Amino acid sequence: MRVILIPIVALGLLAGACSTGGASGAGNPASIRVVAAFFPVQQAAEEVGGPLLDVTNLTAPGVEPHDLELTPDQVVDISTADVVFYLGSGFQPAVQDAIGDAQGETVDLLKGMPTVRPPAGSEEGLAADPHVWLDPVLYQRMVGEVVAGLVRADPPDAETFRSNGEAFEARVAGLDRAYRAGLATCRRRVIVTNHAAFGYLASRYGLTQQSISGLSPDAEPNARRLAELRTLVERDGVTTIFTEDAVSPEVAQTLAQEAGVQTAVLHTLEALTPEEVAAGDDYVSLMRENLTTLERALDCS
Ligand SMILES: [Zn+2]
Repeated sequence: MRVILIPIVALGLLAGACSTGGASGAGNPASIRVVAAFFPVQQAAEEVGGPLLDVTNLTAPGVEPHDLELTPDQVVDISTADVVFYLGSGFQPAVQDAIGDAQGETVDLLKGMPTVRPPAGSEEGLAADPHVWLDPVLYQRMVGEVVAGLVRADPPDAETFRSNGEAFEARVAGLDRAYRAGLATCRRRVIVTNHAAFGYLASRYGLTQQSISGLSPDAEPNARRLAELRTLVERDGVTTIFTEDAVSPEVAQTLAQEAGVQTAVLHTLEALTPEEVAAGDDYVSLMRENLTTLERALDCS
């Protein structure tokens, strides 16, 4: 019996392997296992791959992704995924470490991007400002890299990935046009943010970012920095201190109170809150909300 059974089992395994190998088999959706390091990458992969992919996001809703710690299961997910999309340059060192054991395709989405180096003396372990996704122009490039990575992992579905990618890039290009128009004429151009997540966005649309903490939200602001910002808020007539979703707004609120101005949330999109997920929010809707918030705070017309 055994002698007969073994080839049958082997055949079964082979058949299984074949049907999961190419996602073009219409009867076998979600056969490409993708690990995305955090929300903007997750959405890009889902837009490009749709039902052909099974996407896992390493950063849960409401969790701040800088210096993310991985569970043992997530380390296994990274090592066994067909494709892993992440941002290098020290944004999530634990993810970078786990990438060493990955058997599938791995794509560092900061590679090839026109990134800016952290300010001199910064001790946050970053080789580059990672926040490229907040600039819709650079985010389009990220989407293009996601398309390229998926095409390498699954050539038979290249056409689907490319056309989905183009459709999503077109929506993001629409955001860029809205930002250009919306922020063209404003009374003020200084934005005071919680951490320095909006550098690429600011330079794209001619704004100046001043942040309470550095490129990472956990870098503690010191008393001197807060005093500088109070002076700047008064001098430049800043009306709003921006807080963010996944980080305590306490310091920003104190600064706003002392300076007699208001606070408003500017989404970093590093992770959606559980409420935003439930409301069906995504990259495009939250970026549009950010634009409205900026237009109001900067008195744009
Ligand atoms: Zn950040």
